Amino acid sequence: MTEQALVPTGGKVNLALFSPDYDDGMTKKQAAEKVSALAERFSELQTMFYANRKNALLIILQAMDAGGKDGTIRKVFAPLDPQGVRVIAFKKPSEAELAHDFLWRVHQQVPPKGMITVFNRSHYEDVLIVRVNKLVSEEVWRKRYDHINAFEKLLTDSGTIILKFFLHISKDEQKKRLQDRLDDPTERWKFAIGDLPVREKWHDYQQAYEDALALCHTEYAPWHIIPANKKWYRNYIITRVIMDKLESLQLSFPAGEVGLDKVVIPD
Ligand code: ATP
Ligand code: MG
Repeated sequence: MTEQALVPTGGKVNLALFSPDYDDGMTKKQAAEKVSALAERFSELQTMFYANRKNALLIILQAMDAGGKDGTIRKVFAPLDPQGVRVIAFKKPSEAELAHDFLWRVHQQVPPKGMITVFNRSHYEDVLIVRVNKLVSEEVWRKRYDHINAFEKLLTDSGTIILKFFLHISKDEQKKRLQDRLDDPTERWKFAIGDLPVREKWHDYQQAYEDALALCHTEYAPWHIIPANKKWYRNYIITRVIMDKLESLQLSFPAGEVGLDKVVIPD
């Protein structure tokens, strides 16, 4: 079922062929019930993942504005121990960051073994906003797909598991969410007037996403196109993809130190 979310391998990606409304015939109630039923196991998997410290897990979230990155982080990772999860948001690069190669700031934030790190935006911005707004020349950004693939290969060869999620919403849904932010006094602070020119370039962004999804979808660091108009389905499917990956590791709790059988706790 989670296959539904995987980018097809080989060739191009046409986002128009992926419905942002897809929900696999589930209702909101069913999806929410499934997510709650999975919570305990999800938490156990993370504890074993931490206890074994064999691998690290890097989760990359990319989306248009109001695409649901923050909500995903809040909901999907809620069952987990906060000590085992770090969230890193990538904003506009600083001067020092711009004076280095584009992966410099990113490499510093990758998870150590046992940890889960969630990237809220990522190095993909360097082939998205940077490409659409022509912040560097085409000659520079064109090479970045190969740089990204090589970087992600280095990470996975070093024991990091990478799962990449594109939260796919429709332009209408973005309008609705931006309008809700304007209308709701508790959400108004999230509204950035600067997001409107980005919305105007919707088509250019979709094209840039299609290239990033196609050119950087690898067997070792796959992209998932998540139908994200329905937040509850988005949360369910992302939970499933992450849990399926963790289950595939066949984790168990480490045995503990030798000699524990003979230990008597003193009074
Ligand atoms: P978000 O929009 O992710 O919810 P936010 O509204 O809290 O976060 P913003 O100030 O919008 O924060 O920060 C993200 C901005 O930084 C986005 O416009 C993003 O495109 C931009 N950004 C991130 N990485 C880069 C990069 N490498 N080069 C240029 N701009 C970048
Ligand atoms: Mg923003």
